[in-house]
Amino acid sequence: LGPTVTVGEILVEIVAKQTGTGFLEPIDLIGPFPSGAPAIFIDQCARVGGAAAIVGTVGDDDFGVVNTERLKRDGVDTSAIAVSPEYPTGSAFVRYREDGSRDFVYNIAKSAAARLEWTHEVEALITRCGHIHVMGTVFASPAAWEITEHAIALIKARGGTMSLDPNLRKELLTHGQTEEKFAALVDKADLLLPSGEELFLAAGVETENRAIEMLFNRGVKEIAIKRGKDGSSAYHRGGTHTNCPGFLVDEMDPTGAGDCFGGAYVACRRLGMPLEKALEFGNAAGARNVTRLGPMEGAGTRAELEEFITRTARRS
Ligand code: ADP
Repeated sequence: LGPTVTVGEILVEIVAKQTGTGFLEPIDLIGPFPSGAPAIFIDQCARVGGAAAIVGTVGDDDFGVVNTERLKRDGVDTSAIAVSPEYPTGSAFVRYREDGSRDFVYNIAKSAAARLEWTHEVEALITRCGHIHVMGTVFASPAAWEITEHAIALIKARGGTMSLDPNLRKELLTHGQTEEKFAALVDKADLLLPSGEELFLAAGVETENRAIEMLFNRGVKEIAIKRGKDGSSAYHRGGTHTNCPGFLVDEMDPTGAGDCFGGAYVACRRLGMPLEKALEFGNAAGARNVTRLGPMEGAGTRAELEEFITRTARRS
């Protein structure tokens, strides 16, 4: 029915080479790396062979080129990436602390990333897409929200489907109308990809079985739960339930794991693979990505992930 599309921020990320706190002193940095949750998701989707496209805006600068060229090289349709003559490409500076938490300096609100518009190119793209993947980051941008809502309506009207990665923390739900917007998105989702407490936030109950049952009653057809180093599980409304243990890897940089998992999982399911195979590719994509510095430097092609699956031990 046409490619998978996602809408949202395309950024570059500059990463501190050493752990520590904040950016008050000069430190060694590495980058620019292509980034932004939607960009990571869609790049991984394309790399495993899924037809993929993105709607976003970059600046008329080198950082914009870094992103667009990478996505294009990996097979993403970039026809609906707009180039802002006025605003620079969004950026994020990241430093890891010893305990794994992160300090960020974001340059997004006043960047091209926050300036999405429904252009002719967006219209032309959306009218031929068969699936839309929505991420919780959409709540941070009124423009992204508007375009996403419109795109969901068009894609669903032509028989397409929608997946939702909540990407949401409890404290964010209380901002403005986020809670209602989130509930409305859950009701439209065919596939849900929660991690941590997100399953419970989506369902409004605190046990996994009960949450799955309630979400299926609300119309969700499939739920793939991300469990960090422990792997993932999938439930299908038809009654299938399967778990896939995580791969044993040394984590270098956790950024992008969930997005890579999602990109691979959605692509594999749309290519017709069964739940267990899609979970295995999802786990491999997430695990491989955390072994490299940079938000999507470890995203693998289908052949690279097949090789990773063959040679990597799993947690029992
Ligand atoms: P999110 O970033 O959305 O919270 P997770 O951290 O659960 O998502 O990561 C997504 C997937 O990536 C996991 O389900 C797992 O398969 C894989 N993954 C993430 N971190 C690791 C890790 N340290 N070791 C092995 N696999 C990992």
